[in-house]
Amino acid sequence: MGLETKNQIKTKKKYSEKRSSYDPISLLAIASPVKGCSVMTPLGTQFWEEVKEKIDTEHKRIGVKNVMLPLFIPMSVSKKVFTRRDFNKEFVVIKELPRRKKLSDFLVIRPTSEVLFSFVFSKLIHSYRDLPCLLNQWCNVVRWEKSNKVLLRANEFWWQEGHGVYDDQKKKEERELFAKIASMYRKILSDSFALSVKEGWKTKLETFSGAKKTYTFESLLPDGQTLQLATIHFLSSKFTSVYKTVFRDRHNNLRIPAQISWGLSTRLLGAMAKIHFTQKDRLVTPPFVSPTQLLILVISTDCDTKEKENEKGKCYFLSRKFFSLKELFRVQINHVKNLEHLLILKKRGLAEGVPVIFECRETKNECFESYITISSSGLKKSILPSQLTSLLIRKTILQIQQRLKIKQENVTKLNTHNFSSVDDLKKLLDENKVGFFKGVFCGKITCERSIRDAFGLASVLTSGKSFKSLFCFFCGSSPAKVSFFGRKY
Ligand SMILES: [Zn+2]
Repeated sequence: MGLETKNQIKTKKKYSEKRSSYDPISLLAIASPVKGCSVMTPLGTQFWEEVKEKIDTEHKRIGVKNVMLPLFIPMSVSKKVFTRRDFNKEFVVIKELPRRKKLSDFLVIRPTSEVLFSFVFSKLIHSYRDLPCLLNQWCNVVRWEKSNKVLLRANEFWWQEGHGVYDDQKKKEERELFAKIASMYRKILSDSFALSVKEGWKTKLETFSGAKKTYTFESLLPDGQTLQLATIHFLSSKFTSVYKTVFRDRHNNLRIPAQISWGLSTRLLGAMAKIHFTQKDRLVTPPFVSPTQLLILVISTDCDTKEKENEKGKCYFLSRKFFSLKELFRVQINHVKNLEHLLILKKRGLAEGVPVIFECRETKNECFESYITISSSGLKKSILPSQLTSLLIRKTILQIQQRLKIKQENVTKLNTHNFSSVDDLKKLLDENKVGFFKGVFCGKITCERSIRDAFGLASVLTSGKSFKSLFCFFCGSSPAKVSFFGRKY
């Protein structure tokens, strides 16, 4: 199995123009009346709550505390720290307040909150005993981009933005903190969302405006484009020095701490929808994060009243079984009156990617006829109600999760192309190959721009370490490092 070739993408575009209602992202978020801004659906919000829960749990382990910061940032300060013109162009600026009060210092609606975090740190930190100080906020941010797409590249999106300040001389502490955050993202993206991600360092050209170094996690979309899912920025003292965040070290000297930041946005849900989407126009959700892991649909006229549930009978047995499953999994139980209603709810469950669906109805001779459907494969088989055990559900959920992960790992493997020269790369592109292109590159901004102009490829990530024994495939200079190129979303 591979990704789509350019021709397939063209055909699909035509196809999707006719049948745009099949975009799985619309299950999670829909476009709002303001272009580039979206409304998260109840299902999308439930997924985001799962992400929040997982990250908050990991943050607690690392020692990160949540805060809430305001929406506005003074323009004068933003300009001082964000010097890259293309990033500044995305700021939404307020020039006038109600009653026509003109502002001398305009306000920027937060595109990110480095500046405000530095302000908070300047109030909280006094001595080396206050370090490291690790904070996070869950919020929405606004970056007005030229092109936009719901969840994948939106003008407004939701994210978690973590910031930490630490003694810049404690390199071991810095390495450990970085390792913990990277491990947290690996767990979320790979283990929880069953995505295959490549990780590494951004080149100078791609590094976040204001950061010294940026570490990134990148995935591959079915159309062959790469998508950034999470980043960690080493900010040095660029922001803390603006707000004069200082601490007294053990020798009573005043010093400026170093800062690190990390973020993951609702774009992750867009990636999940695009990547785990089946040919049957259905979303397959990774069971570890599915808001509903097991959907139970029961047709019974007797089981839907509390009084009947208490009777010692088959309904009582079923209700107790369902209750015990509810303790262990995220279960949704629906009692319906007829088959028609059951089929409507089942169809909705399949479309939303509920991993396991159990349907059951009473037959004339007071027996139960029941089936289990695995939504990822569409497989439906008859089982006895007594066979619906926690062991079966656990096993099935694990299987679906593992299959999704292995499938994505294979897709990434098959669509990672090695090249060693300009001719090699040309050949791959002539063959309509898409995905990650792996080669050796010097990392220089001018060289990267020339590669972008010549091949339409951008640097996605690099290994970080340069070697004198390696030479850039494009300009021939050394030292160079192993790098991945691609078409970025
Ligand atoms: Zn080069």
